[in-house]
Amino acid sequence: MRIFDPHIHMTSRTTDDYERMHAAGVRALVEPAFWLGQPRTNVGSFTDYFDALVGWERFRAAQFGITHHCTIALNPKEANDPRCAGVLDVLPRYLAKDGVVAVGEIGFDSMTSAEESAFRRQLALAVEFALPAMVHTPHRDKEGGTRRTLELVEESGIDPGMVVVDHLNELTVAPVDAHGCWMGFSIYPDTKMDPDRMVRILQDRGTDRVLVNSAADWGRSDPLLTRATGDAMLAAGFTDDDVDRVLWRNPVEFFGQSGRLLLDELAGASTASTVDASSTFEGNSVLRGQQVT
Ligand SMILES: [Zn+2]
Repeated sequence: MRIFDPHIHMTSRTTDDYERMHAAGVRALVEPAFWLGQPRTNVGSFTDYFDALVGWERFRAAQFGITHHCTIALNPKEANDPRCAGVLDVLPRYLAKDGVVAVGEIGFDSMTSAEESAFRRQLALAVEFALPAMVHTPHRDKEGGTRRTLELVEESGIDPGMVVVDHLNELTVAPVDAHGCWMGFSIYPDTKMDPDRMVRILQDRGTDRVLVNSAADWGRSDPLLTRATGDAMLAAGFTDDDVDRVLWRNPVEFFGQSGRLLLDELAGASTASTVDASSTFEGNSVLRGQQVT
């Protein structure tokens, strides 16, 4: 089973996770820019993080045979802090970089006017840079938030096929589907979606425009829940081809619209992907220079 996790925050994970993900079949992923837990107080704090996403984390993933992409944005939660507003001005220089495959995560957290204005501006950037948009839906008032999200997507003029609306559930999937956007589902150990609920949604709606991710953020989460969903699909009678469509070809199709996927590098690396992580670490001058312990 080959897996492309379309939404996973590797910054919050360990090298053990990278090893287990590779063993489970994960060969590519997208890490969206998000909130780091501790609120940031200035623009430089964001640019250091964005540089880590396009540089350091991609390098770290490659040590484990996984191709790393990212999305860049001012996240909804921090869009409420006026000290972070200047982040919107530095986004264009990141949105032009290799391996940046979407604008995201954007959208609503608490549905404030500051969030709405950052959301509008970043949808416009997605249109300007001809990039897909990854849209986060709020955890509270998910239905109201999803409705308002779809209104703003429509107003922006972006092609709905360039938008994934993420963290959906049984109640919010229908309007997103009706708008022609891609439908993202985050599978969690004990909240939101689990593998069996995900299988039932796939049985109801089919595999078209569906992206399944493990999110794997600061809360209790599991980076192998993409694999668990593939296994649950097979147990429920889906074919290997169905699983490959959901867990590999769909994310390739969606993020491929950016023209920035790095999967050619993966093809080159796959012959050498039995990387011995420990020897690679010791042999690498970049890592040695950074005194990784
Ligand atoms: Zn996320």
